[in-house]
Amino acid sequence: MKTSRVHLLIHLYPYHVHIVMSTTQFSSQSHGQYDSKAYSSAGPKSPLVQTTIPRREPGDNDVQIEILFCGICHSDLHQVRNEWSAMPTVYPCVPGHEIIGRVTNIGSAVTKFKPGDLAAVGCLVDSDGNCSQCQTGLEQFCPHMTLTYNSPDVHLGGVTYGGYSDSIVVKEHFVLRVPSNLDLAGAAPLLCAGITTYSPMRHWGVTKGKKVGVVGLGGLGHMAVKFAHALEAHVVVFTTSLNKKEDALRLGADEVIVSRNTEEMNKHIASFDFIIDTVSAEHDINAFIQLLRPDGTLTLIGAPDKPHAVSALGLLFNRRNLSGSLIGGIAETQEMLDFCSKHNITADVEVIPIQKINEAFERLSHADVKYRFTIDMASLKAK
Ligand code: NAP
Ligand code: ZN
Repeated sequence: MKTSRVHLLIHLYPYHVHIVMSTTQFSSQSHGQYDSKAYSSAGPKSPLVQTTIPRREPGDNDVQIEILFCGICHSDLHQVRNEWSAMPTVYPCVPGHEIIGRVTNIGSAVTKFKPGDLAAVGCLVDSDGNCSQCQTGLEQFCPHMTLTYNSPDVHLGGVTYGGYSDSIVVKEHFVLRVPSNLDLAGAAPLLCAGITTYSPMRHWGVTKGKKVGVVGLGGLGHMAVKFAHALEAHVVVFTTSLNKKEDALRLGADEVIVSRNTEEMNKHIASFDFIIDTVSAEHDINAFIQLLRPDGTLTLIGAPDKPHAVSALGLLFNRRNLSGSLIGGIAETQEMLDFCSKHNITADVEVIPIQKINEAFERLSHADVKYRFTIDMASLKAK
């Protein structure tokens, strides 16, 4: 795979697509590089296939990680299929941002890790460190943040490549410590599905006794149920899949509503403090807005490309809030992992060899996973 090619640069903030230029202009630091095995997609309709990608040799502040497990997020599917008009995909694309592994090498200035340690990486691998967002631990909103994949790679040119790979090199600040009591395959999804649901619950004050709704019982949704339950809220799951009802209760829900049943929905009008919407596809959010009590909040974390239609009156009455949330900062991600360690929380995973990736993508597109696929990266080493 060549790294020097012309490609699109995507700037998430202020949320628009920027320019087309030569990748070589971004090779601001010269590093040695080595080959890593990976799975990549060549286009929106292409399957993921095995390939070789370059990784930089660790610099002074870098941690090199052998990847053991990588979760499969619906964002990987959106990105590989080029479904986000605001964030076009640069091909070849190597997705994966729920990474758990073992440290194999460190740079001379690294202090928090040593070879042999467990380590984790989520959706972010860099940011400027100076802006007010970085200074307050909100690296995910840094105007210069670098996503784990499909962001410009300042070290090697081209774009960053994610965790569907046998190794990765990441700046120490963006590497998380993995609590020793957590199952590693189940812990991988915490790095995106976990923090993306934990962060808004902390921000909007989900606590004991609050009535909390979770829309969509997928990878993010099932983590939201676990966190809301651990925070002692009254948890109500909204699902379109009748067959997930028993699971929702087992995962910690107090009630389950089939969201396409209007009668069931109407029983809960104006009663929720907080609803988190994880749905990956187009759907009617007004049906959930009307369930919020006065000053209640609906937070969107699901990311369908098509804009939602919102009823103004639905928000005006009861002074309801509609908001969004994006992953979480590095300190909060560590806080979430430590919370999971204390409450013994991991994702419910179906572990697959990487050779089954295209089948897993297809099933994920039909909400057919209970509740997160995690790739066992040992399969990538197998001949
Ligand atoms: P997922 O495992 O596929 O779960 C999505 C769930 O949404 C499905 O299980 C299904 O739940 C429900 N759903 C799917 N299609 C639907 C439809 N047409 N109508 C109503 N409900 C539907 O996906 P995920 O990995 O949890 O990701 C969910 C979304 O969050 C994606 O758009 C992803 O890109 C986004 N995301 C955002 C962030 C962020 O920072 N904000 C981070 C990660 C992911 P039921 O079967 O229970 O109905
Ligand atoms: Zn994700």
